[in-house]
Amino acid sequence: MGKIHQLSTLLSNQIAAGEVIERPASVVKELVENAVDAGATKVQVFLTDAGLKQVQVIDNGSGFAPDDLEIAFLRHTTSKINSREDLFRVHSLGFRGEALASIASVAKVQLKTSTGGVNTGREMTITADETPQIKLASHPQGTTITVDDLFYNTPARLKYLKSQTTELRHSADFMNRVVLSYPQVAFTLINNGHQLVNSAGNGNLQQAIAGMYGASVAQELLPIQNDDLDFKVNGFISRPAVTRASNNYISFLINGRYIKNYALTKALIQGYGTKLMVGRYPVAIIQLTMDPLLVDVNVHPTKKEVRLSKEPELTELVETTVRQALATKNLIPDALTNL
Ligand code: ADP
Ligand code: MG
Repeated sequence: MGKIHQLSTLLSNQIAAGEVIERPASVVKELVENAVDAGATKVQVFLTDAGLKQVQVIDNGSGFAPDDLEIAFLRHTTSKINSREDLFRVHSLGFRGEALASIASVAKVQLKTSTGGVNTGREMTITADETPQIKLASHPQGTTITVDDLFYNTPARLKYLKSQTTELRHSADFMNRVVLSYPQVAFTLINNGHQLVNSAGNGNLQQAIAGMYGASVAQELLPIQNDDLDFKVNGFISRPAVTRASNNYISFLINGRYIKNYALTKALIQGYGTKLMVGRYPVAIIQLTMDPLLVDVNVHPTKKEVRLSKEPELTELVETTVRQALATKNLIPDALTNL
C-alpha cells in the first residue's frame, strides 16, 4: 500500500493562506484590492481591535453575480485571467484566485453583495468546516465582506500576531499606499470608531499626498514627468531640503500597483546626487506606466516584488528624470521666479 495521499481542500487552502494571509493587514489588502478591481469608487474599511477581531470592507463596485457566489471561494477561481497570455498581461491587482479561498480557510467570512439588478442581492456565510449557505438579501450595488476571528482555527499563526498598535500600523501603511495609487477612489480606514485614513477620491494626487504626509510636505514637492518609448514616469519628489530618516516615504507604483524594488529606490537617490545628506531619504511618489508585458508580477504571492524586463533602462530614466527636476533652476521658489 502506498503512503502518498492528497491533502484535503481545507488543509491545502490553509497552507496556501500561509503565503498570502499573514496578518489582518493582509486581509485588508486582499479585500481592498478586490474592491478596486471590481471598479469601486468608494471603499470603506472598518476594523475591530486592529482587525484581530474583525475586518469589514464595504465597496460600491460591480458586486458578485449570484451564479458566481458558489465558486468564488474555491481556490484558483478568478474572473480576471483565462489563459497563459493573460497571465503576462495582467491589468488587475488580483489574478491568482487565492485570496478568498485562503481567507475563508483561516477565518469566518460573511459576504453580502448585489450587482444592482432586481433580485441579485445575496448573503453568504463561509466557514472552514461548513458548506456555504447562500440566502436572498438586500444590499445596494457592491459588496460587504466581514471577516471575523482571523486564525481562530490555526492557533500557531495566531500566536505570531503582534500588538494591536503594530497590526494597525500595517493596515494603515497599506491604506496610505493605496490612496496614492488610486487618488480617484475614496478610501476610509476606521479602527474601533477612530478614523485613520480618509481620502477625497477626487483624483488629485497632490491632495492625496497632503492628506498622508501633511500640507507642509505636499507644498515642498516638485512634479516630475518624463517618458521614453517604453516607460512613462509621473509623480512628485521632495526638494532636497525635505528629507526623512527612512526610505519609507518613497513609493513606486507600477501600473497602479505599489511595489518594492531596490534598484528603483537606488536610482531615485542617485538622481539627488550630493544634494542628500548621508542617511537621509527624500519623500517621493513615483508612478511608472508601461506595457504589462514588461513587468512580471507573478514572482511572489503578495505581488509586492516584481521582475522588470528592462530594469537598467527604467532605472536610468528614473535617475535622469529626478536629476533634471532637481537642476538648480527648478529649485528656485516660485516667489523668486515671478520677480
Ligand atoms: P483574484 O482577485 O485573484 O481573482 P480572489 O480570491 O481575491 O481572486 O477573488 C475571486 C473572484 O471573486 C474575483 O476574481 C472576482 O471575480 C470576485 N470578487 C472578489 N471580491 C470582489 C468584490 N469586492 N466585488 C466583486 N467581485 C469580487
Ligand atoms: Mg483578489
